[in-house]
Amino acid sequence: MDFDNKTAVVTGGSRGIGLAIAKKLAAAGANIAILYVGEENEGLTAKNELEQYGTKVEQYLCNVADFAASKEVVDKVISDFGGIDMLINNAGITRDKLVLNMDESDFDTVIAVNLKGAFNMIKHTYKHFMKKRSGRIVSTSSIVGLIGNAGQANYSASKAGIIGLTKSVARELAGRGITVNAVAPGYIGTDMTNALSDKIKDSMQAQIPAKRIGTPEDVANVVAFLCSDEAAYVTGEVIRVDGGLAI
Ligand code: NAD
Repeated sequence: MDFDNKTAVVTGGSRGIGLAIAKKLAAAGANIAILYVGEENEGLTAKNELEQYGTKVEQYLCNVADFAASKEVVDKVISDFGGIDMLINNAGITRDKLVLNMDESDFDTVIAVNLKGAFNMIKHTYKHFMKKRSGRIVSTSSIVGLIGNAGQANYSASKAGIIGLTKSVARELAGRGITVNAVAPGYIGTDMTNALSDKIKDSMQAQIPAKRIGTPEDVANVVAFLCSDEAAYVTGEVIRVDGGLAI
């Protein structure tokens, strides 16, 4: 894969799956803009790690759920890098509870970050990609967006929403040489899943046909393929990266 002189925006690129995606693309020559929330140190550390690949890297503190703030950052990335070739909508959060205990704000916040955040980023890059008549959009769904999960009604709904968003935008942009796809990871070892109890982790791992927890790199490999020239005829697709968990 060759991403020389191409620029990727990776939301949630400061750690976990997003950082692995950013590293994979940078190793193949891409310039990288990461968007994240939280501690600036995390973004600066990620930037340092990414710079070892020798391409241009910038980090931007930006809440993707904020329509105006995300527009401002997209415009800044375009001016800092001269354009965007790949948009990776990876930022995501959980607020796991049974619906019985789920507040309105638990539902709204997860939808705002996971689903509206992806819409915001697509909206703000849409015309840019159309003018270039090329581009790659890859969003991170989840297998729970396909099969659901007790305790994750908000999260599963947001991830199922990503699939509808992906397929619709894929239809809108296919004629312009722009592909729009999603990956649906299963159980991947990151901060998000490390927060689970050992009991839940053990029981999830026991259900994985591949007999191991996935790594962020497992997901990054598939995202990089979807960004490549080789994947030019793949659009509106959702690829599970789950060791067979949701077969
Ligand atoms: P993580 O918690 O390790 O990292 C989340 C990243 O998203 C961080 O960089 C954080 O700063 C960023 N982020 C959170 N809220 C944001 C916001 N409002 N605006 C901008 N950035 C924001 O999570 P992870 O496990 O690496 O997950 C990455 C993506 O993969 C998420 O969308 C998650 O839902 C999805 N996913 C993860 C798993 C898994 O098992 N870890 C499985 C399926 C899907």
